[in-house]
Amino acid sequence: MPLLRGCSALVIRCFKRVEHFADWITGAAGPVFVFLCWTLIIGGGIAFFDVVGRSLSLIQALILSPILIIVPLNLYGQYWLVTHVPPGYPSPRAIALSPDKPISTKKEEQWIMRDQRSLWRPERWGLGRRGRVLTRGPEPAGPSGPQVGGRRLKKCRKCDGPKPERAHHCSVCKRCILMMDHHCPWINGCVGIYNQRHFVLFMTWISIACWCVVALGYDHFWSSLLYNQKWPAYTPRIAFTLIYVLCIAMGIAVPVLLSWHIHMITKGETSIESHDNAYLDNRASAEGLIYLNPYNMGRKQNLLLFFNIAPSGYPRITLLFPLLIPPASNGWSFPRRALPEPVVGETQVLQAPELAARSAELGEIRGRYVMGDEGLTDDEEGGAGYMD
Ligand SMILES: [Zn+2]
Ligand SMILES: [Zn+2]
Repeated sequence: MPLLRGCSALVIRCFKRVEHFADWITGAAGPVFVFLCWTLIIGGGIAFFDVVGRSLSLIQALILSPILIIVPLNLYGQYWLVTHVPPGYPSPRAIALSPDKPISTKKEEQWIMRDQRSLWRPERWGLGRRGRVLTRGPEPAGPSGPQVGGRRLKKCRKCDGPKPERAHHCSVCKRCILMMDHHCPWINGCVGIYNQRHFVLFMTWISIACWCVVALGYDHFWSSLLYNQKWPAYTPRIAFTLIYVLCIAMGIAVPVLLSWHIHMITKGETSIESHDNAYLDNRASAEGLIYLNPYNMGRKQNLLLFFNIAPSGYPRITLLFPLLIPPASNGWSFPRRALPEPVVGETQVLQAPELAARSAELGEIRGRYVMGDEGLTDDEEGGAGYMD
């Protein structure tokens, strides 16, 4: 038996080594991916304006000008924002900050709180928020330690910092991330509460940009293949051919990824939570219960809250510009759905025995629902536990 235990300990140690190495590679490759992405989107933009732009007449250029300005502006602006806005960290010093303010580390403050005159801020353009942040930060410590929204604030077992609901520890960034979605090498960091809006909008605009190249560069693509035809652009033919093919591939792959993300957003869940919710849903249905995601406020409301364009958020036009829009929640507590109300029949006057039976029936209906609660998983691997 000691031999067996020794072997299993060795296997676990090996797995941990491999996992650490994979995390190190992901972290080290991050800057290379970001450089590659900038090279591709800037190179693609130059080739497009050099080859397609020069062939447009003045009238065509004027008609297409909204596309020719707004698409590159958002493509480069959103990528710059998603790589520069920190995902959101629950730093210990945030506990001391006012509960009403968005909570952040020093680096985030530069982005979220400071410099009201920055060109990235929507307020600078008269597009300010119409309401206040919906949720509250940590409250003064009670008998059972610090609390958020009446719930006990948990501690991360890996970095020992506070771990609010929906936060997860990223083993590449080596810290907890508020409302973590996933670690993305293409942005060399995590997608969390502060940059997820920019992440989804970047995917949207890069999809649109790819299809603009495919649609407007169609004739040029064929003439780039026919070497007997004249090629007036500075961009080499082969470069344009490759960029065009890449745009077709990206124009298919990115929208597939994007629609998966949008699907999760409409369900009120992150990538990590989608695994957890699927697991909890299975467990609940195996026990004859109905699982409810506590953060699912309804399809439309989930989308409005995600993009922070609900009536308490920013104007919808902000979706068309690369502006620094903070999230609807501060990342420490989130609006939660209510248990569905059982459908009560026609208004009828119920006498004592019928009333008692009816209440028991309604109670039973409500008792069949199970609402996912905090602490489902400890890290980005997900799918760890069920309710307890
Ligand atoms: Zn942590
Ligand atoms: Zn990360």
